[in-house]
Amino acid sequence: MAGEFELIREYFQCPFSEGDNVAVGIGDDAAVSQLPIGQQLVTTVDTLVSGVHFPPETSPFDIGYKSLAVSLSDLAAMAAKPEWFTLALTLPENDSSWLQQFSRGLSDIAQSSGISLIGGDTTRGPLTISVQAMGSVPQGKAVLRSGASVDDDVYVTGSLGDAAAGLAVVQQRHQFDSAENAYLIGRLNRPTPRTLASLELRDQASAMIDCSDGLLADLGHIIEASTLGAQLRLSDLPLSAGVKQFAASHSDYSWPLAGGDDYELIFTAPVSARMAVQAIAANLAHPVSCIGKIVSQAGIRVEVDDGSEYLISSSGFQHF
Ligand code: ADP
Ligand code: MG
Repeated sequence: MAGEFELIREYFQCPFSEGDNVAVGIGDDAAVSQLPIGQQLVTTVDTLVSGVHFPPETSPFDIGYKSLAVSLSDLAAMAAKPEWFTLALTLPENDSSWLQQFSRGLSDIAQSSGISLIGGDTTRGPLTISVQAMGSVPQGKAVLRSGASVDDDVYVTGSLGDAAAGLAVVQQRHQFDSAENAYLIGRLNRPTPRTLASLELRDQASAMIDCSDGLLADLGHIIEASTLGAQLRLSDLPLSAGVKQFAASHSDYSWPLAGGDDYELIFTAPVSARMAVQAIAANLAHPVSCIGKIVSQAGIRVEVDDGSEYLISSSGFQHF
């Protein structure tokens, strides 16, 4: 691509700062990183394709922001501290205004999470963004999907269903008032990875996952990996005002139960950790809600207040 090196320097080298965990960053043939002694490396990669993972008209700032946010969310789901990331960018054209805003969205979230951009690759083709993020975790301390036990509490951070409601607003399937619309679209386009919560909860959580495909689908991965089941209380699901009002008035909880893209953490913890979880939650900027418990019977049962079962038709978004 013409002007490739100038492009990399202007948009991906200068706006980003490097931590002292970077020995050699952007500009050589490969990066050299310093992993602290006693820590394990945690690696995740995600690809966003225009028209598949985001509508083509999404703002370049939001595309930049979300392409790193989803990988930071994967690191959070393992209770790993964000350290480094690489960016493989396929661009249809060298559009400086697009690149500048994309770079701003990306550096905005990189800066706030303290992760360093250490390299990447730039090619021409249909718009595709691939981010590989790496984090560190003390030896043996990564929180896996497989660690849940019978009677563990099931928790979720933040609120559920906001991104699905935001998508309904963007696609004009439903409208709230303008402030609520803006909040929900923000939750869809600029999700907040729950990094701090995950690091604080590392020693309490028995199993953890981030909610990208919907509560039932992602909690489903925990109970499958742990070969158990779960019982949830519909009235304990944390809902923002608009989602709550919609769910109650339509008797439809498919956004919070099956909507994807919230990037909240779903985790389990033993009953003995309740006080510790509450103490950690009290110091976070978002709620941490107990929504049910792990049981031995396979599957997820969602109960309404009279103890009867809430039946769900769809269980999350699947690509294939
Ligand atoms: P090579 O020919 O060795 O693959 P490149 O020309 O692809 O080198 O990249 C030159 C340098 O710029 C490397 O350090 C690479 O990691 C970095 N780089 C390339 N594209 C990007 C990008 N989109 N974001 C960040 N760093 C990049
Ligand atoms: Mg290259």
